[in-house]
Amino acid sequence: MATTLLRTSAGVLRRTVAFNAARASSGGGPPIDHQAGKVASDKVSMPDTLGHAVGIERYELLAKLAGNEDPFEMNVKKRAKGTVDEPTLIPSLYEKRLVGCICEEDAVSINWMYLHKGEPKRCECGYWFKLSDLQQ
Ligand SMILES: [Zn+2]
Repeated sequence: MATTLLRTSAGVLRRTVAFNAARASSGGGPPIDHQAGKVASDKVSMPDTLGHAVGIERYELLAKLAGNEDPFEMNVKKRAKGTVDEPTLIPSLYEKRLVGCICEEDAVSINWMYLHKGEPKRCECGYWFKLSDLQQ
């Protein structure tokens, strides 16, 4: 029993170290402390908001700590030139994304449309949009 437990915990520790080493060396910004807020230290005895967060919420909080204020690319973006050759690129992790176009500066409604990867689409106002891969 003890041997099995020791073997299991050694395997988990090995995977964790390898994962963190890979993440730390992948570049693209400062290294992220994946244990931030989870373990007690001299300054903290109880987990804070970051320590209690899991899943997508934790990803968002860690990204904001690393300096990325818009980890899901949800902020409003200015349209690019918007022609067929130079469409406005919309980053996405998925094969399709719902996009809203404010066609005129003083418009009171938003034109919503689905963009699919590999299929540039033209809004009613004439601007072209295209889905691109989200840079991590
Ligand atoms: Zn439009």
